[in-house]
Amino acid sequence: MAAYEIIKIGEKSWRFEENGVRSFLFEGENAALLVDTGYGSGNIKEAAEGLTKLPIQLVITHADGDHISGNKYFEKARMHPAEFDRFHNGAGKGLTAEALWENEIIDLGGRKFEVILIPGHTPGSIALLDRKNRILVAGDSIQAGMIFMAGGGRNIDAYIFSMKKIAAMADLFDTVYPSHGPFPVNADIMPALITGAQNLKDGKLKGEAPPFETNAKVYDAGAAKFLF
Ligand SMILES: [Zn+2]
Repeated sequence: MAAYEIIKIGEKSWRFEENGVRSFLFEGENAALLVDTGYGSGNIKEAAEGLTKLPIQLVITHADGDHISGNKYFEKARMHPAEFDRFHNGAGKGLTAEALWENEIIDLGGRKFEVILIPGHTPGSIALLDRKNRILVAGDSIQAGMIFMAGGGRNIDAYIFSMKKIAAMADLFDTVYPSHGPFPVNADIMPALITGAQNLKDGKLKGEAPPFETNAKVYDAGAAKFLF
């Protein structure tokens, strides 16, 4: 079985579906951008090179294992420095991490992505905003699947502030490209996600044991589920 299902999602844009996690490749005129590398079950670098002849820059939305385990095929990756600790103590051990700062513009030539810092799911989680195409690549933070908010580095207060920050930018994007769950997600998910996270924080949601072993519980917030 192929490690990835590669699906074209727009002009010079692809998603890589790998056993429940999603990575993205975007091609500009001068360079290509790979967002995340998944579980590493196949060589994602070779897979991406099969789609573009341009040099590929690797950026990760955050350093959880399901987003960086294919980084081993690349010399380096860019991420927010608040993820360095998580990266180097996880699947990024021994690999080179370079700083990607908030508001930085990744310019591929004719196509730009703007870095937006959204801590909460992890300290240095980022979203990438393509203003021209009105798309937000959101990692795990904005999705209609299960958002992991249990374990080290997660912070529900930071998450709520980050989602309010994104909601305030609602006039800049229509579509969210999430790393898990249904694809794509409409930008109008934001108010329900904020309400859901606030209800979770306030203890208003009822938790249920998930189908895998953990001390955390699953809380159905309507727009998404939270593991907390
Ligand atoms: Zn994930």
